[in-house]
Amino acid sequence: ARFMNDIDLKQYIASIPDFPKPGILFYDIGSLMRNADAWQLATARMAHAVGPWQPEQLAAIESRGFLTAAPLATRLGTGIVMLRKPGKLPGETISHSYDLEYGSDTLHIQAGAIKPGQRVVVTDDMLATGGTLAASIALLRKAGANVVGASVMMELTALRGREKIDVPVHALLSYD
Ligand code: AMP
Repeated sequence: ARFMNDIDLKQYIASIPDFPKPGILFYDIGSLMRNADAWQLATARMAHAVGPWQPEQLAAIESRGFLTAAPLATRLGTGIVMLRKPGKLPGETISHSYDLEYGSDTLHIQAGAIKPGQRVVVTDDMLATGGTLAASIALLRKAGANVVGASVMMELTALRGREKIDVPVHALLSYD
């Protein structure tokens, strides 16, 4: 495979102005994913950073976190637990609601999905304001997890979302 460093990986992330609403610059993981070499390298580097935390499970935030979780779990030899929006998971669930800029949102996890004290790393494509990641960590703790870290492919550092997160955070690509 060709050699690519972190700077080169950013070339594969398209940024789309005013999506999904005016004023938002949307960083599109899809444009990186469809390049096999770039996706291979990006997920390998994420796994390399997460490995030392020795997770027993990966928690995947709906929906683009599912995409980062799957290759990480395969590389690290862990399972995957989905954190999902209401009405998606069968059986008994544990939920956590959190405030958004306008309104609120809720995430669910299946009851019994996490063993008490299990080491869990939570993953998503993007850390922006940090609201989603912080809520996911709160939900995982309700479910009994020992959250040992958070792994994202991209971070918007200017939003300072990291300050809301009380576990180590690894971001593969940072944007001002
Ligand atoms: P936040 O809760 O503000 O940290 O937002 C994180 C979630 O929103 C992640 O699941 C991202 O997929 C998505 N998101 C927020 N801002 C962006 C952006 N500028 N580009 C792409 N995805 C974003």
